[in-house]
Amino acid sequence: MVIRLGLFTQRSNTIARAWTPSTDADGTKHGRVQFNTVYLMDFTDEQIAGTVIHEIGHTLGIGFEDWLPLFNHDNGDFFDAAKEALPLLHAMEVERDGGPGTRLSHWDEDLFNKELMTGYQERDGGEHVLPVTIQVMRLLGHDINDPTLEVQRALEELIEEVAGLVFSRQDEVGILNMDFVDENTEIFEEIPHGLLDDDEGLVEG
Ligand SMILES: [Zn+2]
Repeated sequence: MVIRLGLFTQRSNTIARAWTPSTDADGTKHGRVQFNTVYLMDFTDEQIAGTVIHEIGHTLGIGFEDWLPLFNHDNGDFFDAAKEALPLLHAMEVERDGGPGTRLSHWDEDLFNKELMTGYQERDGGEHVLPVTIQVMRLLGHDINDPTLEVQRALEELIEEVAGLVFSRQDEVGILNMDFVDENTEIFEEIPHGLLDDDEGLVEG
């Protein structure tokens, strides 16, 4: 899978945007996430990284074809087969509120509030990641590093732990078809969908 991270500059209330992933003729899945430079100065490193990581979560499958058949779209509960494959899903519920980029593509905001993959971002930070958010990636067709996340962890801590990560596959980047995503997919999610609501500190995404 190829995920392109980038920037765009637009005087608008769109902080970040993600494209619907698509698969090329070789079977490689492509996704794309961009962050608006207008907000770089206003956001902390944690907020920028958190926003981008949230969008990567979608690109890896949360909200798309391998995710949507896993749960009941009316009540947000996961089906038995999914819960057998991943017992942590017993405790989870999918968001049914919000617009097309929000509903059915996040953990339920009321129950999971500051989790990374809820649909409303906390502007004051303090987000966390639940083990199920990592482990559900297996059901979406990905391998997970072992040991995986065992307990709920603060997003800020996790980001600090990988801050020194070096991208080591530069040579392979040269052979990628960089135009593929631009030509073949549409924007799936823009954060936020509506105007910033400073009173509540929530933005839909
Ligand atoms: Zn989202």
